[in-house]
Amino acid sequence: MSNAPDVLLTTRLRNAQPALWTNAARQAHPPEHMQALGRTISLVDTHAAAHRLERFAGLLAQVFPELSATQGVVESALMPASALLPALGIPADAGKLFIKADHSLPVAGSIKARGGMHEVLEFAEQVALQQGLVSQGGDYRVLAEPAAREVLARYQVAVGSTGNLGLSIGVVASALGFKAAVHMSADAKEWKKERLRLRGVQVVEHTGDYERAVAAGREQAAADPLCHFVDDEQSFSLLLGYSAAALHLQKQLQSQGVVVDAQHPLLVYLPCGVGGAPAGIAFGLRQLLGPHVHCFFAEPVQSPCFMVQMLSDQAPHLGGHPSVYDWGLTNRTEADGLAVPRASLLAAELMKPLLSGVFTVQDATLFEHLVMVLDTLGERIEPSAAAGFSGPAMLTGTTAGQAWLQASGLDAVLHQATHLVWTTGGLLVPDAQYQTFVERGRALLAAKSSAT
Ligand SMILES: *Cc1c(COP(=O)(O)O)cnc(C)c1O
Repeated sequence: MSNAPDVLLTTRLRNAQPALWTNAARQAHPPEHMQALGRTISLVDTHAAAHRLERFAGLLAQVFPELSATQGVVESALMPASALLPALGIPADAGKLFIKADHSLPVAGSIKARGGMHEVLEFAEQVALQQGLVSQGGDYRVLAEPAAREVLARYQVAVGSTGNLGLSIGVVASALGFKAAVHMSADAKEWKKERLRLRGVQVVEHTGDYERAVAAGREQAAADPLCHFVDDEQSFSLLLGYSAAALHLQKQLQSQGVVVDAQHPLLVYLPCGVGGAPAGIAFGLRQLLGPHVHCFFAEPVQSPCFMVQMLSDQAPHLGGHPSVYDWGLTNRTEADGLAVPRASLLAAELMKPLLSGVFTVQDATLFEHLVMVLDTLGERIEPSAAAGFSGPAMLTGTTAGQAWLQASGLDAVLHQATHLVWTTGGLLVPDAQYQTFVERGRALLAAKSSAT
């Protein structure tokens, strides 16, 4: 077979039509130690990230009242959601559906609570040990005391973001006493900036896109030795923080009686921006659960940066690090958490042997699915977080998806499969904003049903 990306797919991609790319380079048994950007990572690093979160749990419960009930643990529910399958157009014999409810993660209200919190804590731990504020194995709650906070206040944490990462980093950094600066791209929502300003975070507004905001943050941080820059495009700390979710999910699957093996595949659909969050989770899941977990990334049709990156890896003559603009796309989408023009090379390199595929979704579909999730499950998600819901139908209802199911042998066991849609944000969206999302979705659904 030729390596050239197929013309049907690239035509759909250019025309901003929903498309599915499947990964011929996926390995059933990838190495335990994996290389990316010259560094080697394994499950040992995922466990280390989880242990770091545990060491800080006591302190987190103290500085975030919303975490006192869980003793400082930031986690989300695994919720049965098969009631949604008919509305999603999935045949009754195509498996069960669950959602991983990161839309309700406390503190940051999105999946960014995982990676963002981990990276800020790693920096805090490094400073605290260096400055003798805590000892190895000691009680980190001393960091909430004025003397320690005075030391941390000399340091700054900076980040560039379309919104949610800034919200996570800004809120956690300022809660620990750091100065915090968030460089926001033009598409960031006003309420996210407002929320940060209320916490004393410096919000720097940029007229450009996500890449410009990141570049500005990186520049500012480079000039200040006491500033730590959270680099969303290449941070191992973020990625490993996300990967720790896999350890918790494994327990949740077990406790809900979900088996993952050759007869019972697990298909996971993850909304993708720069790729760090879904890659971290996919890395953890593949290492932990093995060959029968299949991870698919979901992107807006105007911002499919990960898909164009994977296509360029397949056919390097297309260019090493393409942007969606190179494909004639606009990077304009209501899914603000996913409005990223160019993928993280760390995430892309790591995913080459691990990922099963990438698909794209129209904004209209995001709003329709957002309404179905509200009406059927009573859950509030933001548009970005709806991207995964197109996944099952992409596999069962398209030629490309059916071909992949057949080639991978999944069609024979699909009735025993578990589909898991990762809902990545929503908790903090203000009511008025959320109502506009719902109205838009209802109008689209009504237009559809009157047309048929
Ligand atoms: C950031 C974000 C993602 C994707 O994470 P990346 O690391 O950018 O790929 C998905 N959903 C929401 C709601 C987000 O904010």
